[in-house]
Formats: sequence, C-alpha cells, structure tokens
Amino acid sequence: MPELSQRITTLNGDGSDGWEVFYRARAMKEAGADVIELTIGEHDIRTDPAILRAMHESAMGGHTGYAIVPGISALRDEVAKRIEAQSGVPTRRENVLITPGGQAALFAAHMAVCNPGDVALIVDPYYATYPGVVRSAGAVPRMVATRSSHGFLPERNVLETASEGAASLLINTPNNPTGAVYPRDTLSDIADVVTVRDMWLISDEVYDTQIWDGAHLSPRAMPGMADRTLVIGSMSKSHAMTGSRIGWIVGPEDAITTLVDLATNTTYGVPGYIQDAALFGLRAGPELEAKVAAPFLRRRAIAERVLAGQNVVRAIPAQGAMYVMLDIRGTGMSGDAFANALLDAHGIAVMPGESFGASAAGHVRVAMTVDDDRFEAALATLCRFAAGRAEAA
Ligand code: PMP
Repeated sequence: MPELSQRITTLNGDGSDGWEVFYRARAMKEAGADVIELTIGEHDIRTDPAILRAMHESAMGGHTGYAIVPGISALRDEVAKRIEAQSGVPTRRENVLITPGGQAALFAAHMAVCNPGDVALIVDPYYATYPGVVRSAGAVPRMVATRSSHGFLPERNVLETASEGAASLLINTPNNPTGAVYPRDTLSDIADVVTVRDMWLISDEVYDTQIWDGAHLSPRAMPGMADRTLVIGSMSKSHAMTGSRIGWIVGPEDAITTLVDLATNTTYGVPGYIQDAALFGLRAGPELEAKVAAPFLRRRAIAERVLAGQNVVRAIPAQGAMYVMLDIRGTGMSGDAFANALLDAHGIAVMPGESFGASAAGHVRVAMTVDDDRFEAALATLCRFAAGRAEAA
C-alpha cells in the first residue's frame, strides 16, 4: 500500500499508547479469569432510563435526519445557560458548539487555535489521549511538568518557562488522572501567563459535576479570560452518557463560528435524538447529576479509610473526578511494574501513572468504578501487595 501520512503514523509519539495493562486485563477477562478492572473512566451504572426514554421518543418522533451542524438551538441555549450560571460570564447560543463528545471537542479546539507545527502545552500528568489530540491537529505537544508533592498543580515558574513560543495551553480541572481541582491561585497564575504570552487556553471541564472538596472554578470566569478560553464540556461523566458521544465547546463567538465550519467539514454534527436526550438530561437538573456522582464520593471515603490503615501507599487527595492517584514509590517499583505485577498476582487492573506522563511515574491511577464492596476489597489487596513489595525491596 502507499505510505500513510506522517501525521497519522506518529500519533502515539515514540512510545506506546499507555493502554497495555488495560488490554492485558481485557484479554485475561475474555479468557475467563476473574479480573477487577479499575482502569477506565466508565461508570458502573448505565444512562438513566428517563434520558433513554427521551432519546427513544425523539427518534420515534422523526429526529433521525441530519441535525443542524452547530447543534439544535434549544440545546445550545441550555448549555449557554448552564455555563453562565456556573461562571457568571454572559454566554449565548452563539458561544456554543455541540460536538460528538468531549474528545471531538478537544481535537476541534486544537485545530482552531494551533497552526501546523505550533507548540501546544499539556499539563503532565494528563488524560492519556491529549498528546495524540495535539498531534492529530498537526501541532507539537510540550509538557508542563508538575509534582506529586504539590498536588500535581501547575506552578507559575514552570508555566512561564514552558510557555515560551507556545500557542495554547490545555488544562483539566477537576483532573483526570490526579483528582486535583485547581484553586483560584493556580487559575490566576495560568490566566497571567497565557495573557502575557497571548496564548489560547483550552479548559477541559468534563468532570465539573464531580467535585468532592471546594467548588468548580472555570478559568473562563477569570478577568479577561473569556476572550482567550475554549471550555470543553461533555455529558459522558455528568450523566453517564459515555456511549452517546455528546459534548460541547464554549468560547468567543468568532472562534465558535469558525469551529462550526470545521464541524461542517468533519463530523457534520450530532444526531438529533442524542441532542434531545442531552437536553432532557440537562433540564433534569442537579439531582440527576448528584445521583450519577454519588458512588464516587462514597468510594472516595472508602479509599480514605482503607489507605489510612497503612503507610506504604500514599494517596494524592482526590478533590474531584472518579479516580484516586496513589504514590507507590515506597515499593521501589515503577507504576508500570507495579500495575503489571498486581494484575498477575491478584487479577486487579489499575493504570500505571506513566500512561499519563512522566510526572506521574511511580504512581498508579485507580478508577472508582466497581461496586463499593469489591472496590474496598481490591484496594485493601492492593495495599497488602504494596506492603509485601516494600518489605521485599
Ligand atoms: N477529557 C477527560 C479529562 C476525560 O477523562 C475524557 C474521557 N475519559 C474526555 C475528555 C473525553 O470524554 P468524552 O469524549 O466521552 O466526552
């Protein structure tokens, strides 16, 4: 066959895509092994039946044709209302593009603000797809290192150095994989740096309904930032609608206008019945969101309890999202070696920190996505395993 493009063949960079433990766990499961998967960010509940009924009624009512590309007006209005209520920044339909999930929104946002070859900053550790997203858009990822001892928050001096010559900065709060929720000080440092450098800020806020400590702050609400921020949203996490592929970008009207052109030529919008279901879900209000988030809050308390009983594994305080990040350097192992050994010894699959960037080396990310009892037992086993390894080291 003729050669494939460099853009596509170099999507994963030099290394692996970081999903080996996940795929190995899946293969073991398929072969009949009893494997507990604490790997991906997928709820253990399904989309609420009321949302599915709205989807069904919409489809049966005929909303199965091409939907208008920017998104149906009622949904754009509802997203605008939600973002305005959350941030205090006036937001209208013209500031909103509906996308097939947050993932497509991340790609479109980088396409909108990076020229080919531009440097796009990513805070490390990062959601595993970020470098590939940047490369798909023809830009070059550059990492902003953070420290476990600083709760994995980006630090001003590091940002200042890294941002030289960069076109954009991608942040994520509440954070996957670390559970960090960016405080005002951090957001204010970020706002200063991107303003001085005249950069775009892409703010991934797909976990905005999963906050365990404090409140969600969007950088779009910081003074002067609405003009240089693209907010990424999604109903995957907030409404357990991962498979429905529905999200959005909120940003300055001119940016959204050009993003609509991109959508016209790439995705051509999102199915009308999915949008109607999303509208129903948003209008269902905060009770439904709280119901979807509740298991993670409960399991976070379980994790705190289990981890309090030992001193080999250190938890990075999870203030939001559906994960706990564990520092396992006390075992003398890398996150990768630990995750593989834990899977072999006990059939428990967690993600190596290294899958999320160099800053998370020596850590593992545990998704709180199995029922409470199994979660508690798995975490207790993980801690005993770590203690055994630490003793042997
Ligand atoms: N951003 C983050 C931080 C995520 O964790 C995910 C999914 N795990 C996404 C974006 C993409 O989500 P979706 O495309 O399902 O909206």
